[in-house]
Amino acid sequence: GSKGEGGNGFSFYMADMGAQTALHLRMESELQRALQRREFVLHYQPVVDIATGHLGGVEALLRWQPQGKPMVSPADFIPLAEETGLIVPIGEWVLETAMAQQVAWQQGGLPPVRVSVNLSARQFLGQDVAQRVAVLLEKTGCDPRALTLEITESVLMQNPVAATATMARLAAMGVQLAIDDFGTGYSSLASLKRFPIHSLKIDRSFVSDLIDDADDAAIVDAVIGLAHSMKLNVIAEGVETADQLAFLLAHGCDQMQGFCYSRPVAPDAIEALLRAAPAGQGQQGNLTTAA
Ligand code: C2E
Ligand code: MG
Ligand code: MG
Ligand code: MG
Repeated sequence: GSKGEGGNGFSFYMADMGAQTALHLRMESELQRALQRREFVLHYQPVVDIATGHLGGVEALLRWQPQGKPMVSPADFIPLAEETGLIVPIGEWVLETAMAQQVAWQQGGLPPVRVSVNLSARQFLGQDVAQRVAVLLEKTGCDPRALTLEITESVLMQNPVAATATMARLAAMGVQLAIDDFGTGYSSLASLKRFPIHSLKIDRSFVSDLIDDADDAAIVDAVIGLAHSMKLNVIAEGVETADQLAFLLAHGCDQMQGFCYSRPVAPDAIEALLRAAPAGQGQQGNLTTAA
């Protein structure tokens, strides 16, 4: 209720809070059970080299499929998982599953493919993530040079000193680092200079209005130029149309992800894509060199 409703406003507010808390508690225990019941799956979205059209890698994206219920999008449960700390075991499962998948594709005779995994704030800042990643690489047999970890700008800026140390350890292991959703935080591109990052992912919000909004077009162009001057690989997120793709090609953007090429898909579909690809695709030099 609004302020104008006097005393009732407060009690409605309290009732809302109660309902919200009950919902959160139920979601929390469902998330806990989801891991044991194996209700989480990973889908993978191709990352494409714009100039060649070759597959440059895939991004692992978490899906929750509760039994007999509709699929839940990560946007709807990751914030809660983050708040309750459940993101740590869930994120551990994601890392291990994505690494094991990378190994399974390669052992199946497919070209090596780079796999990107999203890390949450709590995972990146709250536990010894470099140590955890090292343990899981060892356990799965995954080549560290085939792994990219994505963190958002805001996570970096929450604790730049700790972030720098963690990133340095990961980079020394051969793992690549990408800044996700770039442009949505408050950091300048120049402030990223001190971090050992490999790629910058331009947030979908700038890409979606590229054609109609001259400001967004200018921002995307500037980010590509500055990122290249810092020797960073630039990936555009959420590319949906041929016009957007043409703009990105003309402005020298390195890679893209988006519905215009493929939605996130089940591992089988990635396997089919890799099988159809000419030799050398999937790695495109990025297992050995900095793009
Ligand atoms: P993100 O890492 O920025 O992932 C990109 C999101 O954009 C994905 O949404 C993807 O499906 C969507 N997308 C890709 N291309 C297009 C397009 O052309 N158009 C539109 N409209 N959307 C596109 P998704 O899978 O729902 O994931 C949302 C966010 O949830 C991710 O954003 C990431 O921040 C988080 N997330 C997903 N999986 C994980 C995970 O395993 N761990 C953590 N910590 N976060 C995850
Ligand atoms: Mg991402
Ligand atoms: Mg993103
Ligand atoms: Mg996003």
